[in-house]
Amino acid sequence: MTEVVLETRGICKTFGALAASRDISLELRAGEIHALIGPNGAGKSTLIAQIAGGLQPDAGQVLLAGEDITACDRAARARRGLARTFQISALAMEDTVLQNALLGALGAGGSPFAMWRRALGMQDLRAVAETALERVGLAGKAAHLAAELSHGERRQLEVAVALTLNPKAFVMDEPMAGLGTQGSKAMTGFLDGLRSQAPILLVEHDMDAVFALADRISVLVYGQIIATGTVAETRADPAVRAAYLGEDA
Ligand code: ADP
Ligand code: MG
Repeated sequence: MTEVVLETRGICKTFGALAASRDISLELRAGEIHALIGPNGAGKSTLIAQIAGGLQPDAGQVLLAGEDITACDRAARARRGLARTFQISALAMEDTVLQNALLGALGAGGSPFAMWRRALGMQDLRAVAETALERVGLAGKAAHLAAELSHGERRQLEVAVALTLNPKAFVMDEPMAGLGTQGSKAMTGFLDGLRSQAPILLVEHDMDAVFALADRISVLVYGQIIATGTVAETRADPAVRAAYLGEDA
């Protein structure tokens, strides 16, 4: 069996009378891109927030590398290797690309790595930052200001910042949003290569990207996962077509 890196078990969340998460169990396995799709209001962002730690579930658990992290806040989950990218842009626009990556390599204050990182020389930190920039294809723009990057490149830089902390898993909410056709294609190629660094739980509306990238797809409708399967299985599933994809999928 492939290793399960990130897992939810029986996540439930209600907002008043509305059940936004209904008994959600899913697995993100090593090496995979697992897409989470569903109509607007299905509860995708609510689930992502509970996985990342911004929102506490009413019931259920979140596990990272087999460890129950449900009680951890967002920062603690990030330190344990859960990389949440693209929603809250943490880039310093007036700093260079390399400086942004260095800030990531230094780690947020209070990190358990802080002491160890202080012990690292500036040269080592620089090497960590430069390696991360190389991995996302931004090494050639290290001296540019973050403000000079395109939208797509900024997202790549956010991933580089995340990579400096050696993440175990990525969680991404709509990385293609606002990128345009060319940008989406470039981002698709980028994410395709990124899955070998760490598996990705991907919420995305762009179905071309989802079908091109996903090893597995889970379909969320009214707070409930109605199907999980490969791209082919998902496209052929009558319940999914009826609830979400439509007959033209
Ligand atoms: P999606 O990301 O799939 O579009 P959301 O997770 O944003 O869906 O929302 C799921 C449902 O929960 C929606 O009906 C939304 O209005 C509701 N919702 C989300 N957050 C809150 C909140 N903080 N308080 C009340 N209702 C919320
Ligand atoms: Mg959403």
